[in-house]
Amino acid sequence: MIPPYPTVDAHIHIQPWEMIHPHALEALKQGRDAERTLAMMRDPDELVRYMDEHNIEKVCIINYVAPEVMGFREEGVNEFSARYAAAHPDRIIPFGGVDAHNPVDIERRVDYIIHELGLRGIKIHPPHQLLMPNAYRDGGTLETLAVIYEKAQAAGIPVMIHTGTSVFPGARNKYADPMAIDDIAVDFPELTIILAHGGRPIWMDTAYFLLRRHRNVWFDISSVPPKRLLHYFPWLERVAHKTIFGSDWPGPGVPSMAANIEAFYELPLDEEIKRLILRDNALRLFATE
Ligand SMILES: [Zn+2]
Repeated sequence: MIPPYPTVDAHIHIQPWEMIHPHALEALKQGRDAERTLAMMRDPDELVRYMDEHNIEKVCIINYVAPEVMGFREEGVNEFSARYAAAHPDRIIPFGGVDAHNPVDIERRVDYIIHELGLRGIKIHPPHQLLMPNAYRDGGTLETLAVIYEKAQAAGIPVMIHTGTSVFPGARNKYADPMAIDDIAVDFPELTIILAHGGRPIWMDTAYFLLRRHRNVWFDISSVPPKRLLHYFPWLERVAHKTIFGSDWPGPGVPSMAANIEAFYELPLDEEIKRLILRDNALRLFATE
């Protein structure tokens, strides 16, 4: 069943595929309509046509920098994200990031992606970026991370942090435990933090703890099959006011944005809760005013 209102998919991967390492691309391509997917990657009009067909009002295109594991380099990935979204700025919200392992000119580089490119969110992917997201503390060497959080906080844009395991070749899962994000929420109390994937499939309790402890910690339900959602997150309704829908399309096991939206809408949840998660929360979170 299709929801009777336009929805928001806050987590899809429209990325510069020509940058992706061949082995990562193979993992991404498995079992999907690669042709249509690639057409949508190349042409924002194709994506918006699809969105119109399925009454999807807005999407976030989640890009990030992970040269070693994925092939996404800072030079190129952010420009791609900004340029792609610029074709339909009212429909497409671009995310990007910087290489936190490179300290050179970090202030200028973060200013560039926020203020010159106009990215509206920053993505941190610890298992693919090979870092603890709190590695600016306790003798950690990545002061760059504090600069990212500080500037995102000042600009009022969210930082989305991947939580939970990744099985892409080369991913390191010691970085996947969301508890490190507690530090960030303490140190940057006005920063909006989105826990992508709610720590699945191991750290859902940690995600729930962080959601309840910190006012500005949000949660996206992407990459969990909707049918399994309440199994993974039985507490979902208690944090429904800070939960946003995401499909993670075209990630592994995601049939399509529309299929996931419909499957979510069929869950035994209150109508108001479904609407918050499928639409209202994301509009509030990404409001530009
Ligand atoms: Zn994702």
